[in-house]
Amino acid sequence: MRIPLSRPDITEQEIERVVDVLRCPNLSMGPVVGEFERALAAYVGRRRAVAVNSGTSGLFLSLLALGIGPGDEVVTTPFTFIASTTTIMMTGARPVFVDIDPASLNLDPNRIEAAITERTKAILPVEAFGNPAEFDAICQVAQRHGLTVIEDSCEALGSALRGRKAGTFGKTGVFAFYPNKQITTGEGGMIVTDDDRVADLCISLRNQGRSPNGGWLAHERLGYNFRLGDINCALGVVQLSRIDEIKARRRQVAEWYRELLAGEDRLILPQEAPGCEISWFVYVVRLAERFGIEQRDRILQEMTRQGIQVNNYFPPVHLQPFIAEQYGCRRGDFPLTESVSERTIALPFHNRLTQDEAAIVCGTLRAILDASL
Ligand SMILES: *Cc1c(COP(=O)(O)O)cnc(C)c1O
Repeated sequence: MRIPLSRPDITEQEIERVVDVLRCPNLSMGPVVGEFERALAAYVGRRRAVAVNSGTSGLFLSLLALGIGPGDEVVTTPFTFIASTTTIMMTGARPVFVDIDPASLNLDPNRIEAAITERTKAILPVEAFGNPAEFDAICQVAQRHGLTVIEDSCEALGSALRGRKAGTFGKTGVFAFYPNKQITTGEGGMIVTDDDRVADLCISLRNQGRSPNGGWLAHERLGYNFRLGDINCALGVVQLSRIDEIKARRRQVAEWYRELLAGEDRLILPQEAPGCEISWFVYVVRLAERFGIEQRDRILQEMTRQGIQVNNYFPPVHLQPFIAEQYGCRRGDFPLTESVSERTIALPFHNRLTQDEAAIVCGTLRAILDASL
């Protein structure tokens, strides 16, 4: 690949901090875990943060800690990475999909009410591509119906809506630190909340159901091993200390793309709605509505053939075969999600992407559009 879709940004500072941990006796459950948790809680502006080994684990433990289980329904979006749906399924609850707002690409707050039944316990919205638009409206619907919000902020570390940071809208917010996210720990995730009971329960659930003051072989409940190690947390501490610089670099790349693709009426570019500050996770353009999936897929193929890595973020979750089969979903069920999904092109996007590379990506894309549309 000439230009990869994503690339981590690791400096000597991260390397030194990780090596420091390797010289210490605690590779797990040591002091760096708490250091990372406190730093992340302070950055987001929540009382508590609980580190876990992935964003997926964080969503699953949030749902468990909030009492979601068999017989319950959770309203969520079909335009997302699959983990926001599968973690609902893992608890035994049923995901109930609601279509998106085609501007923000987030759960449409105006469609939620129609999906609420007496079994509905929670709403699990996702800041798609880091965009916090509509999250206040989504929370208002939840509040009106007495529903808990589990906020999948895995793509939105550092985003804000009218000054309120992503991760503070739900009863819990969840971040992920896979290498393509704004900051990485290799693998990792974090649950944030203001509720001590929920945080303490998550700490027990991530650690084999142990209690904070019980013995190593005393287990109070069915738990898991979802701990995040000190090596990963050391990486996280340094990455988080660089978050402002990381956000600025990513904003600069998004700005280059916006300028380079301006006036291209065959494409719809991502927009920052008034009041929204997007912490850029990916840069996803989409073909104008008059085009379709065959044309989009040919463009993806041709970009890839020319050494520019692109992707189709996201195919609709309700049409993944095992989910469609389990819940009887069909094409046409969520037309806005389906229409958007068929036209997206995620462009290469990371901290160190240069202006020259952005120009190559856009030049190649324009040439392919000229040749194929
Ligand atoms: C990345 C991501 C996750 C989970 O991330 P992992 O750390 O890979 O488990 C969950 N939801 C969304 C929307 C994501 O983008």
